[in-house]
Amino acid sequence: MSGRRTKIIATVGPASDPPEVLQALFAAGADVARLSLAHGPLEASLERISRVRAAAIGASRPVGILVDLPGPKVRTAPFSGDGVVLSTGAKVRLTEATEGDVSTAEVVAVQLTGAVQALEPGDRVALGDGGVALVVKECRDDGVVATVVGGGVLRARPGVTMPEARVTQRSPTEADLRMLERVLEAGVDAVAVSFVETADDVVTIKRAIGWGGPVVVAKIETGSAVDHMEDILHVADAVMVARGDLGVRLPLEDVPHIQKQIIRRGVTHGKPVITATQMLESMLAAPTPTRAEVSDVANAVFDGTSAVMLSGETAIGAHPVLAVEAMARITARAERDFDYQGWGTRLGQQQMAGLATASSMVRTTSAITAAAWRASVDAELTAIIACTNSGTTARMISRFRPICPILAITPHWSTARQLAMAWGIQPVVGAAHATPDETVWHAVDTAMRLGVVRPGDLVGVLLGSPSTTEPTTDTLRLVRVR
Ligand code: PEP
Repeated sequence: MSGRRTKIIATVGPASDPPEVLQALFAAGADVARLSLAHGPLEASLERISRVRAAAIGASRPVGILVDLPGPKVRTAPFSGDGVVLSTGAKVRLTEATEGDVSTAEVVAVQLTGAVQALEPGDRVALGDGGVALVVKECRDDGVVATVVGGGVLRARPGVTMPEARVTQRSPTEADLRMLERVLEAGVDAVAVSFVETADDVVTIKRAIGWGGPVVVAKIETGSAVDHMEDILHVADAVMVARGDLGVRLPLEDVPHIQKQIIRRGVTHGKPVITATQMLESMLAAPTPTRAEVSDVANAVFDGTSAVMLSGETAIGAHPVLAVEAMARITARAERDFDYQGWGTRLGQQQMAGLATASSMVRTTSAITAAAWRASVDAELTAIIACTNSGTTARMISRFRPICPILAITPHWSTARQLAMAWGIQPVVGAAHATPDETVWHAVDTAMRLGVVRPGDLVGVLLGSPSTTEPTTDTLRLVRVR
């Protein structure tokens, strides 16, 4: 087995803006750059997208860009400096933010019209990823007065979580759809949808994107999304375990269990699953992670996650490159003890999730990739090569977590960049060929050139036959490298 299989997503922000830092993030192992559109003006994010794209040109492999639409998330006006402490027992006033407001330990300005007025005495309000908890005591003309019942430090523009009955907006919001139009023009590889409640929310975004555009990542961070997970997995291209908001909306102690469930179910559907938030949080300031954080990342790998995500660590932290390096080391080490055989065997014995209602194209891809996994075990393949247009074949073989490398050869740069977030796939761009024989031998030559296989190795090549009326992968060839 060669190389790290778990992908790393690094959120970019002010700490990673200099081109040399972006290049260092990619050199250290970041496979995908994430931009959260919840922070700062859209124009600044669009500029950041072009800087990331420019820096990624120098990377040794295709790097993806994921933009994260904010959804109906309420945030505060920014806290200044390195953060502000809200102490347990203190009183704080929540006001409606106006242009240029900053938040302080005494007055927290909330950036959503009508949100503060909707609060009632007794309501619980969480600031940040549940870090600070307030209880509303009194509603006045100049805002609401609340008591801090769980103190903590607040930095930048933390989210404000209010009782669900007080929030009326649904995801995607009008603002999300306007932002989507602009980021599609800028050219991105994946779009994350926040606060998804049902599959319809994902379908709205997919319709707005249209055929052949960026892949859609459904962020699972509401109780409703957990309840509707199966339907969401049918329509989303990937999902994110958004532990920050999930841990605010559901009991914190449920989060590790939900994480395992989302990963298992998502991967069974052949959909990449991203585990996100507070993975190396202490590295916002410290040059090394805590033991607990190292265990958390390793356990996400054991759970079967496709990718792990860094948020503030790389966007606003003091050591963005060290954080990616630490992530790369921890995941690579954990992979050495991942139960590849057990995972593949479990999946190989069960029918693909949702197959009963799937199209014959999906059924064919499911069957042929299962055969490729079986061959990788029985014939001890050195590599599986997926010749793929949309990337689906590569993602479907990846769900088995084969121990041998997976090379995905695609004629499309966009597909190669989208595969940057999928477990174990080394994407490479290569020309399409006229006959199955040419396709197979060019694929093997490419794998040789990249050092994935050597003469004498047995390789499995997955490809579509040109005679087929449906554009699907229907052929598995086992060939010995010449
Ligand atoms: C989360 O809540 O865990 C998350 C990833 O979303 P955001 O960073 O946008 O709050």
